[in-house]
Amino acid sequence: MADEEEERALENQLELQLLEHQDSLSALNDALASDPSNPELLSVQEELLQFRVEPEPLEDQCYSIGSKCRFRHVDGRWYNGQIVELVCSDTAKIAFLTPTSENMLICKFFLQERCRFGTSCRLSHGVDVSLSALKNYVPTMWDQSLVGSSIWALSDSNVWHMEES
Ligand SMILES: [Zn+2]
Repeated sequence: MADEEEERALENQLELQLLEHQDSLSALNDALASDPSNPELLSVQEELLQFRVEPEPLEDQCYSIGSKCRFRHVDGRWYNGQIVELVCSDTAKIAFLTPTSENMLICKFFLQERCRFGTSCRLSHGVDVSLSALKNYVPTMWDQSLVGSSIWALSDSNVWHMEES
């Protein structure tokens, strides 16, 4: 049957993509072994890992303000976040725990319901995420960063950025 053939072709294609992805990861790991502090390689590695890592769904389904979680932002990446508000029974407002740009920093005035800028505020007023899309919080693994390699560091302005350690 044509349908079955089509399905098989699609499966093969997916398998091939997965293999290519594994290939590029292992090639990258080889390159990193000889040049562990190359910032370009490290950022490519981060990209590849971001695609591969699909966080586990949240186990306990009780959410409250202050709960840590992992959520997918509009840029397609997973971020650690913290619930700052329960908007309705199935949506929570999430603040970035590790903001990588100023507009991801949660607005302190907004949290106090005193921000006058509304949608034009340059800081974050939280991201509305469906509770069913939240995943388990994954603590940042600091032990994986090597001395001399690029790490995420918290600057004075509370924004995380790449820095030589
Ligand atoms: Zn604000």
